[in-house]
Amino acid sequence: MSEQSLPRPRLGFIGLGNMGTPMSRRLVDAGFTVTGTDLSQENRARLEQAGGTAVATAIDVAATSDVLILMLPNSAIVESVLLDDGVAAALPASAVIVDMSSSEPLRTRALAERLAADNLAQLVDAPVSGGVGGAEKGSLTIMAGGDAATIEALSPVLSVLGRVRHTGAVGSGHALKALNNLLSATHLLATSEAMVAGQEFGLDPQTMLDVFNSSSGRSGSTENKWPNFVLPGGYNSGFGLGLMLKDMRIATQLAEDIHRPSLLGSCAVELWTKAAGELDPTADHTEIARWAGHNG
Ligand code: NAD
Repeated sequence: MSEQSLPRPRLGFIGLGNMGTPMSRRLVDAGFTVTGTDLSQENRARLEQAGGTAVATAIDVAATSDVLILMLPNSAIVESVLLDDGVAAALPASAVIVDMSSSEPLRTRALAERLAADNLAQLVDAPVSGGVGGAEKGSLTIMAGGDAATIEALSPVLSVLGRVRHTGAVGSGHALKALNNLLSATHLLATSEAMVAGQEFGLDPQTMLDVFNSSSGRSGSTENKWPNFVLPGGYNSGFGLGLMLKDMRIATQLAEDIHRPSLLGSCAVELWTKAAGELDPTADHTEIARWAGHNG
């Protein structure tokens, strides 16, 4: 695929959840033709409201997609949509599949090889960081793994969603994304423990955050998650705790697979797994702060 041959590719979009809805809306607003689907009728209706075309099933998206974007929960679902539902086989041969979900890097690599062996569409992994807010504003960090020329040619599409960084071969974006979230989750739990201890001692939580944010303890947890989603008591970042735990497990498994096990990461996975068992299954990931003892 080249920028010249596909100046305005027709877009398919599968997975219109917390992230997929604002991302597909931005693509429609940027003038792309977007045909999408989701298991949820409510989510399909949101694409229609935004000016896209919603269809009932994934296979209905395939035939008209030059670029097929996936924003699904995990690798198993990505594989089931592409292979079991026959979507990959129904795409035009020149199509590119962009898996923007946070999937498993080794499964992504194997999937790309299988698609290539069957002469089907090329796969690029392009997971994102920046959350629902970043999806709404088009300020996501996009970690793109795959053929450099293909990623360059996708630029008119991906630049609507955020800033693209080519991370290497296919699967590398998914590896980097999982490692990022292992760090993010570890920071968030560590920050929550520190905040709870400080408040118990009598420190004011806002003073603590202000000091952390101008000191070496700062992170995305002190700059964004605690002030925006924990302290106000909303716990409404739009990123589920179960999805965060999935990413952490991908990262620690990756570390094990390459014989560099993550000791601290494994402890974090253990604690987050305990939290997942004790909190509501639909809990936002920021509720880890409540689990760590924050009252509010
Ligand atoms: P979500 O659960 O809100 O959305 C996933 C959507 O996929 C749901 O609407 C679901 O109905 C749909 N779906 C599931 N199986 C399907 C199928 N077979 N066919 C069609 N639709 C199907 O999740 P999300 O928060 O939007 O996250 C999507 C991906 O992005 C995940 O991999 C997640 O880890 C990653 N991610 C999320 C965030 C965030 O802040 N929410 C940030 C970065 C990355």
